[in-house]
Amino acid sequence: MTGRVDFIGAGPGAADLLTLRAARLLAEADIVAHDALVSPEVLALAPRARLIAVGKRANRPSTDQRFITRLIVRLARRGARVARLKGGDPGVFGRLTEEVDACRAAGVAIGVTPGVTAGVAAAAGLGVSLTARGVARSVAFVTPRVARGAADCDHWADAAAAADTAVIYMGAGCAAEVRDALTRRGAPLSRPVRIVENASSPTERVLTGVLADLPTLAEGLGDGPAVILIGDAVAAHAASPAQIGADAEAASAA
Ligand code: SAH
Repeated sequence: MTGRVDFIGAGPGAADLLTLRAARLLAEADIVAHDALVSPEVLALAPRARLIAVGKRANRPSTDQRFITRLIVRLARRGARVARLKGGDPGVFGRLTEEVDACRAAGVAIGVTPGVTAGVAAAAGLGVSLTARGVARSVAFVTPRVARGAADCDHWADAAAAADTAVIYMGAGCAAEVRDALTRRGAPLSRPVRIVENASSPTERVLTGVLADLPTLAEGLGDGPAVILIGDAVAAHAASPAQIGADAEAASAA
């Protein structure tokens, strides 16, 4: 009887954004240890598994990370096939490394199945591209949030200000700080901003503006998870080189 732990990306919410591999592993799992942001539709794909909620949400009571790590290792050592289901992609702000390291140290076999990360789902919902020929050729996934006990630093803002497109996780709660950190690094106040709450779910909401408005936009959010996209490529009327060419043609034909 050999157990194992599969770290599985649950995607941003909509169950049909799961990979086929994720669905197969969930169907085969004995135990599913899942985050708070995983939707009931996704959990329904694991009908034979025992479900254990080990969720973490900002500013809410949460399960201690060491407890989660010890739990999955113990269950796998007893022979269980454990599906460790994490929102979005397990390797994007998902504390994957701690859990993988603990499994490896205990000799427990692991696998990682990627998922659609929130920022990518948000861009898809908007019908925009995070990279765009002639407009954006770098993307930074950043968060201003630091782990409890970790030293604060603001390298995230250097990366976000320098990238053509910034995708900011866990940043809506400190929108003024985000705006100020980016503008201090030379980002123009007119840089396009989209905030997407509950990306991919029926309650998805989009707020559109520019960097100067970021704190005001964020005030309009509900209490769902939200990701901030910043850059010309994500603008409501993003100009692509092809579009610019077409506009020029139309102008000269007129
Ligand atoms: N591993 C996850 C991110 C976990 S951090 C992923 O790859 O998506 C949690 C943060 O992700 C939230 O604070 C929010 O910024 C973002 N997020 C998660 N789900 C989201 C969703 N459905 N819509 C918008 N943002 C989301």
